[in-house]
Amino acid sequence: MIEAQLRAKGPALQRAYDRMPYSVQNFLTSARGWFLTRNRYAPGMYSYLRELRRHEKWSTEEIARFQLNSIQRIADYARQTVPFYSNYARVAFKSPDDLRKYPVLTREVVSQNSDRLISSTLPAHECIRVGTRVTLFGSRVVPPEREQPPFWTNNYLERQMLMSIFHLSETNAPHYIAFLRRNKGKVLEGFPSVLGILADFVLRTGTTIPMQAVFTDGEPLYPFLRENIEKAFGATAFDLYGNTEYAGLLTQCEKGQMHAVPDYAYLEILNENDQPVQHDEEGYLVWTGFINDAMPLIRYRIGDRGCWQPKQSCSCGRPFPVVRPTITRDSDTLRCPDGRLFSPRALNQSLKGATALRFCQLVHERPGHLLIRGVASQPSAYDDLMGIQKNLQKILGPSFTVTSTLVDAPIVRAGGKIPLIIQPAATAV
Ligand SMILES: [Zn+2]
Repeated sequence: MIEAQLRAKGPALQRAYDRMPYSVQNFLTSARGWFLTRNRYAPGMYSYLRELRRHEKWSTEEIARFQLNSIQRIADYARQTVPFYSNYARVAFKSPDDLRKYPVLTREVVSQNSDRLISSTLPAHECIRVGTRVTLFGSRVVPPEREQPPFWTNNYLERQMLMSIFHLSETNAPHYIAFLRRNKGKVLEGFPSVLGILADFVLRTGTTIPMQAVFTDGEPLYPFLRENIEKAFGATAFDLYGNTEYAGLLTQCEKGQMHAVPDYAYLEILNENDQPVQHDEEGYLVWTGFINDAMPLIRYRIGDRGCWQPKQSCSCGRPFPVVRPTITRDSDTLRCPDGRLFSPRALNQSLKGATALRFCQLVHERPGHLLIRGVASQPSAYDDLMGIQKNLQKILGPSFTVTSTLVDAPIVRAGGKIPLIIQPAATAV
């Protein structure tokens, strides 16, 4: 309940936080950490962790049995408690293939029916609305106008240091490097594009800063980013593919393969006609999630693509399916004339709360001029666009002119990629 209120009052609380002295900001970061810790490290978490570790030793038959039971449970639960599914006929599942009796849910259908997809068992005050564009990695821990370090705060209880992703620049690079050097040997986690910028800073000094391990999440980890990150931090980068809908999860094992996590969701890979693809043929990832009882999604086609790895067994020993996700979303980094660098994820924050746009792209037309191109999905698109313009102006500051326009179609790059940020060189292509 407190979490729901905190999120509802987010912008006002952020403004108050920005005005506090640094020591108070540290205290508040830790207080927030304490609050999250109560959930994250509750006694139930440890028994759950033990259970998940046991699942890693499951046989293929045990996985199949668990998944069939979970599909049956979530389908019955959805039919009984979720208005959207109330008219669906009951299916007695004999195999996961019976899921084909359900239609595939597209993002558009989910977005149009978001209220009807919420379970009635959930009290309204416990309902936390989380957009796919909000992420903890993008927490605004440091006020935007700060020009001197520290560009980080401490969450002492969780022994976590949060670095700002909004203050990366050539000028601040030495400060970031010094901070990382003081904290070498620790675990580093973050968005691939942000860690890529830090890795470049480090490599340019001709040295490395060894870390224990690197965890990436929230964006595609391109091979060139992985190479730089692993080189700069002398550690393996472990990637994770998840989604805010809690519909599906792929995690990278120590042997470098991406596994679909079988106790989290059931995965189908389907072609354009919603038919299963052949092995090694690319298709859409379609998820039936087992853990989101607040908003159960059955056969959710999230838009990302991938294929089954032809050789299903992995030398790590886990009998979990091996998937090769296709990297389809890419973007540039916004390089400002004054040396500031904004990763796509940093600017993604400005899109928070916008629901009436199908696509939104930021075109760096010429130095100091950014054009927002929005493609409408609902009549209120213009209001969303104005909101984004205001947010971006605040993040980028007065040295930037931000304008916006509604257009019919996004700028699409070769291979169907729709980048968030488009730099002048790229627009000329
Ligand atoms: Zn493996």
